[in-house]
Amino acid sequence: MKTTRVSFEFFPPKTADGMDKLRETRAQLAKYNPEFFSVTFGAGGSTRDRTMDAVLEIQQEGFQAAPHISCVSSSKEEIRELLQSYKSHGIKRLVALRGDVPSGEVSSGDFRYAVELVEFIRAETGDQFHIEVAAYPEFHPEARTPAADLLNLKRKVDAGANSAITQYFYNADAYFRFIDQCEAAGINVPIVPGVMPIYNITQLARFSNVCGAEIPRWLRMRLEEYADDIPSLRAFGIDVVSELCETLKVWGVPSLHFYTLNRSGIISNIIENISE
Ligand code: FAD
Repeated sequence: MKTTRVSFEFFPPKTADGMDKLRETRAQLAKYNPEFFSVTFGAGGSTRDRTMDAVLEIQQEGFQAAPHISCVSSSKEEIRELLQSYKSHGIKRLVALRGDVPSGEVSSGDFRYAVELVEFIRAETGDQFHIEVAAYPEFHPEARTPAADLLNLKRKVDAGANSAITQYFYNADAYFRFIDQCEAAGINVPIVPGVMPIYNITQLARFSNVCGAEIPRWLRMRLEEYADDIPSLRAFGIDVVSELCETLKVWGVPSLHFYTLNRSGIISNIIENISE
């Protein structure tokens, strides 16, 4: 059994087949004794019921389940109902996010930023939930400045967040420097690196364009070289991400949070590569 603490993130499947596959993925990843399995939430509540179904199933299997809640385009009443529902099911951990308004739409909800959601959760439910928020070692794409983004994280923590999970990154120095800045700014909660395995260069480039996570030039060029040779691309990606996890572990990160895309194979390879 690996000693590195881990958690895993899923998206809520759309079909019964997808739910079956997710069950298999969970069964594979359960052997790493995760702190929790989290389930994403579509902005504006588009996955509300599917997120709830996946979360409750995880909980029934005896694992800690952490629903994400993104507040953009939602009303206070909708979020209040969701919180009451999670509370009544005994959920103990939430990942509180702003979310992104789909392009071409205008936000019509009661919340503008994640800090308002954190404040609302604390006001409505006291200490019922351990609240995770998002953090950005390479800075959020809409941040006016790095300092403003750091201040936003501090506000979320001051409003009651207990810990943070980062956007993925492939440059460990970005994370280490970010942690130094957080400490200097008085942000004293665990900041867990989010780890994105490499499955496919097109998909990774698309995600990275949207979320502002940099694919370093050396990595992008090597991945492009393997674009038509998926087994080699995956083997190379496993090497790169395993080395990143090892570096983070040796440095002393509190835990590793994997973006699974509902798959277990590559993640198992990576975790098995991390030293005891
Ligand atoms: P915020 O913390 O509100 O920050 C958003 C931006 O606004 C930042 O640039 C910040 O600097 C800026 N800002 C904050 N306050 C102000 C202010 N007063 N004035 C001006 N600018 C300000 N999205 C989903 O839809 N569903 C999910 O399940 C989901 N899960 C995620 C999980 C993790 C671990 C991460 C890292 C991201 C996730 N996302 C998810 C994506 C997230 O919703 C987006 O990155 C979104 O753009 C920002 O969300 P946030 O909670 O970081 O927002």
